[in-house]
Amino acid sequence: MTAELIKGSEIRNVILEELKADVQKLKAKHGIVPGLVTILVGENPASISYVTLKIKTAHELGFHEIQDSQPVDISESALLALIDKYNKDPKIHGILVQLPLPKHIGEKKVITAIDPDKDVDGFHPVNVGRLMIGGDEVLYPPCTPAGIQELLIRSGTATSGAEVVVVGRSNIVGKPIAVMMAQKAKGADSTVTIVHTRTKNLEFHCKRADILIVAAGVPNLVKPEWIKPGATVIDVGVNRVGVHPETKKPILKGDVDFDRAKEIAGKITPVPGGVGPMTIAMLMKNTVKSAWLHAEGK
Ligand code: NAP
Repeated sequence: MTAELIKGSEIRNVILEELKADVQKLKAKHGIVPGLVTILVGENPASISYVTLKIKTAHELGFHEIQDSQPVDISESALLALIDKYNKDPKIHGILVQLPLPKHIGEKKVITAIDPDKDVDGFHPVNVGRLMIGGDEVLYPPCTPAGIQELLIRSGTATSGAEVVVVGRSNIVGKPIAVMMAQKAKGADSTVTIVHTRTKNLEFHCKRADILIVAAGVPNLVKPEWIKPGATVIDVGVNRVGVHPETKKPILKGDVDFDRAKEIAGKITPVPGGVGPMTIAMLMKNTVKSAWLHAEGK
């Protein structure tokens, strides 16, 4: 059996078309466009490439977008003052500070300085709390978990009552997707297990999964024999395992042994082209939502 591919790149394109139409509606009704600022500190090549992609997508959607690049030695207080400026700017609906930050800047302080109503990354403790409560309380779900859930919904994967096993417990992927899948909601209602480096028998848990979500950052961690035949496998991992000799571009691999896993799984996401493109689409979706909420005074 060869698994059906869940093509994030194609689903992303559909979502961006929907968002373009929504941006037009917003413009027609309120005369505004969504505003997104991306603050980049320093010159980390991976961060530059993520920010460039985000800006490009925002531009394609007709956003008012600002790329605010700051030197690596910007002081913490200067960065906090910059965030405050954008918190007060009525043309800006989404503020994104690209992580990681240099060591002299407190990441927590920076995240909590962002107005929760403009925190389109969904990392502010207020938004984390709202995610935990669920339902209408959720303002901006964090982008990668939201992208995973959207992939499950749009690929027609049954989640209600499904055994979901999440490998990894980070604040940006593992924990929030586990909470989201356990909520009483569309694309959720699952029975969730979280596993991590202290879990006694990783294979045992993975084998029970109807939906296996892997976000560990370890290439080929999940072996094909750990996958239940017919299961849906969402591979979040992005690991640079080498450099292509001709293009000089990094060679990316997920956390799942894709070539062999696709012979056992029912559905599987590729790396690249699976979860990655969805993360940016969800950032755009949160920014459009924020613009509507601000325009309608909610
Ligand atoms: P992280 O903060 O490093 O967390 C990794 C988690 O995996 C930790 O909870 C860790 O357990 C667990 N883990 C690591 N090795 C393990 C093992 N051998 N067995 C069981 N659990 C293990 O990573 P992250 O930020 O969540 O990212 C995970 C991966 O997803 C990375 O490859 C990252 O690049 C990728 N990612 C992709 C996107 C995207 O848009 N496609 C977005 C975000 C992240 P402990 O807690 O016990 O240490």
